[in-house]
Order: sequence, then structure tokens, then C-alpha cells
Amino acid sequence: MDYITDLFIDGEWRAGGEGTTFGVTDPSDGSTIAQFAIATEADCTAAVDAAERAFPSWAATAPRVRSEILRGTFEILTAEKEYFAEIMVRENGKSFPDALAEATYATEFFRWFAEEAVRIPGEFRLSPSGDKRIVVTRQPVGVSLLITPWNFPAAMATRKLAPALAAGCTTVLKPARETPLTAAYVVEALRRAGLPQGVVNLVTPVPTGPAVAKMMQHPAVRKMSFTGSTEVGRTLLKQAADTVISTSMELGGNAPFLVLPGADLDLAVQGAMVAKMRNGGSACTSANRFYVHSSVHEEFVAKFTAELAKVKSGPGLDRENTLGALVSIEERDKVAGLVETAVAEGATVTLGGTPSKVGAFYPATMLTGVTHGDTINSTEIFGPVTAIVQVGDVDEMIRMANDSIYGLIAYVFGEESLALRAALKIDAGMVGVNRGVVSDPAAPFGGTKQSGLGREGSSDGILEYLEEKYIGMAP
Ligand code: NAD
Repeated sequence: MDYITDLFIDGEWRAGGEGTTFGVTDPSDGSTIAQFAIATEADCTAAVDAAERAFPSWAATAPRVRSEILRGTFEILTAEKEYFAEIMVRENGKSFPDALAEATYATEFFRWFAEEAVRIPGEFRLSPSGDKRIVVTRQPVGVSLLITPWNFPAAMATRKLAPALAAGCTTVLKPARETPLTAAYVVEALRRAGLPQGVVNLVTPVPTGPAVAKMMQHPAVRKMSFTGSTEVGRTLLKQAADTVISTSMELGGNAPFLVLPGADLDLAVQGAMVAKMRNGGSACTSANRFYVHSSVHEEFVAKFTAELAKVKSGPGLDRENTLGALVSIEERDKVAGLVETAVAEGATVTLGGTPSKVGAFYPATMLTGVTHGDTINSTEIFGPVTAIVQVGDVDEMIRMANDSIYGLIAYVFGEESLALRAALKIDAGMVGVNRGVVSDPAAPFGGTKQSGLGREGSSDGILEYLEEKYIGMAP
């Protein structure tokens, strides 16, 4: 396959200032598939400078024009969906079905925000005392720094780029080191759709921290949107304080999955297969802690294990495989270590549990006899490992679900009114009720507690890139 391996600065693809590169690896066999340009700190500053120069005219560009460029990008990515998916398979390791689903989801953000670009709300009303007109208009925040992780290399970028560009912001995208090829392809699609010079820029500094810190100190940067771990999010929030940059944070998760008494167990297993196994478990939304009521525990575990046993694991380019590789050998070993710890703490492996000898593969794995306080329940597994806790009481299940510093998403399976009541009591930004996947570009995505700040997608997503201006006028 041909890949773009350069930086994109001020409308041009180019090598890094020092001409150095880093290797991009196919995790299914460890081979190096590309050498990507390393951005120097000077390259990063040049990217922000370009975004700063492009900002006034992009902010003043008619919403309809901005909208049509986003729509054009949607058309390009839709037409090339299979190629788009293959890039992700190669650099991330995920299965082809997972990559195709991500390509569809990622592309949809351009269509959704093409539609939102022309519907930016404002207000015009008389004050209660009648002494003035209250005019509220919304303006783009400014140059936006967008930092994304490797697990959804396309969707995490488009979920930021599309609303930022729709709002009239100019952008610098910093993808994860593991997955720059997908990001470069998305940026090229925007260029092909007619995005003007400087409006989007792509940089890949190594090491990341100092270069990002420097960009955040650039006076033109007014917005930072980050998706990644809570740990790095905390660091960036501290850095953002220095220049009082507006931040949106999509951070880690530790999703509870509750199976209540009376749940439709076939539906619960179907939901569990998606909530746990989508993206090989490498998702912030991945079901991490299963709390299953004693009355249905045995049957749920048997049915779920039977489905997990059917999962076909292997290289993503073989389209029959439904479970690809983890992103790296380090991730594979991290998952294996968590399973070993769980066993040492008393859990039993009833399926899987042995890492691959070649490539970063870990099989679909079932652990029973886990207790709420176990290490595996307080750690993001980020792999295809199911940890089941048996609980005898619904209130206790809800208490356990809420006993976490994270609050991104939860899943509840049960009779509808009982499940809805549980959903209302769970402290999370999103809850799937009798559904194993809730992400939708038209719905607000985001978490409570240390899972983040702000929302992406929906009509709220564009507001993260807009600032209100109030004008008080004579009546
Ligand atoms: P990560 O935090 O290690 O890296 C995310 C990004 O931050 C990468 O681009 C990385 O290069 C960059 N980065 C790392 N150190 C930095 C620093 N000091 N300064 C600036 N940037 C820095 O996360 P990851 O391992 O790539 O992704 C997995 C994490 O992302 C998981 O915790 C997962 O839950 C989270 N995630 C959250 C969401 C969400 O929407 N809430 C979605 C996907 C992933």
C-alpha cells in the first residue's frame, strides 16, 4: 500500500525540519510498514503560525462554503472506505470489520457537522426590564490543537476536525505515534475537498510532550481538544492553565456492564459481545467490569463464553477474522499481566488467557470469580478480556458501578423500567440500556468525573469550538 508519510504544514506535504523519521509498525507481525516524518519544535511552531494566518479568512468564510467542503470530504472518504479501513488495519492491528465500522463512523462526522455548520445558533431578545436588546452571537474560538490516541485513529480525529472546521476554527492535528498514516490520509481528503491552505495542519513530534507544551504556549492557540488517557489529560489541563486555553477532554473509562435479574440473556450476550469485543476491547467505551446478578449469572456466563469461543482471531487483512491484534507487543503484555494478576487474586480463566508467540495477539478471554476490589476492575483492560463479578443485589450492583474515578459510559441489561431506573442512578456521561453500543455522531459523547470535560458529536460538539459574544444594544 502507498501511504502519506509527511507533515502537512501551510497547505504542503513536507519532510520534518531535520529530515528524521520514525517507524510505523504492523502489530500483526511486527514489520515496519512506513517511515513517518518527525516534526521538530520549529515545525510545530510553523504549523501553529500557518493556522494563525489562515484563521481570519476561514472564520469569515460563509458557513455554506465550510459546510460543502466537509460534505465533500464525507463523499471522498465514503467512496474510498475500504482503502481507509485497510490503512487502519495495517498500522493499528484491528480486524477489518472493526476498521470498516470505524471508517463509516469517522466519515459520518463530516456529514453531521456539514449540516451543523449552517445552523450555528444565536439569540436576539429584549431584556426583562426592556432597557436593551440582548444580542448573542457565536464566534470561532481560534486556532485549535487537536490531540488524538491510537485506538480509533480515524474517528477520534474526525470527531474533532469536523466540528472545529464547521465552527470556523483552524487546526493543528497531533495524532498518536502508533497511527499517523490514518491521520495523514484524513488530512489529505480534506485538502482534496478544497480546504484552504493553513486551515488544517498535521504534526508528529517525537518526543511529544515538550513540543505540545511549546505549542500550547503559542499565543494564537486558544483551544485544546484531547482524547487519550486520564494521566496525560491531567498534565495537559495543568499546562492549559498557564495560558487559560479552553479545553475539551475525552479521557479514560472503566465501563460497568450490569446484567439485572429478569434480563433477556440472549440480548445481554449480544450486547456484551459488542460492548466488550468491539475494537478488540481497545475502546474507552469497552465494558471493563461485568456485574451479573446471581439469579442469571450461570446462564449468562455459559452463553457469553459460547459466543466468545466463536471469535476468530488473526491478522486484520484476512477479512474473516473478527479479532485483530492489539496495537503493540507492550499492550499485549500489559493485558497478559492483568490476567495473571487477576488469577493471583483468585479469578479463574475459563476461556483463552494465553498470549500469542508471534504478533501482538491476545485471545478472547473469560475470567470468573472476580471480586469488585480486584486490580483488573480498577484498570482499563483495553483488550478482549471479560472479568465477571457475581452480585446478589441490584442496589449493590449500582453502588459498585459508581465506585470508580471514571464515569464515561455504563451498560445496563434488564427489564426496561428496572434498567432505566438503574441507568438514572449511574454516574456516567452515557448509558446503554439493552444496547451494547451507543456512539453516534448525532448524540453527545463524553464522560463525568475523571473521564473528561465537554462533549463531542451532537449539536453540542460544535459549541466546544465557539465562544459566545453578547452585545447589549439600545432597544
Ligand atoms: P495517551 O494518553 O498515551 O496518548 C494520547 C495522545 O496524547 C497521543 O497522541 C500521545 O502522543 C499524546 N501524548 C502523550 N503524552 C503527551 C504529553 N505529555 N503531552 C501531550 N501529548 C501527549 O493515550 P493512548 O494510549 O494513545 O490511548 C488510550 C487512552 O485513550 C485510553 O485511556 C482510552 O480510554 C482513551 N480514550 C478515550 C476516549 C474518549 O472519548 N473518552 C476515546 C478513545 C480513547
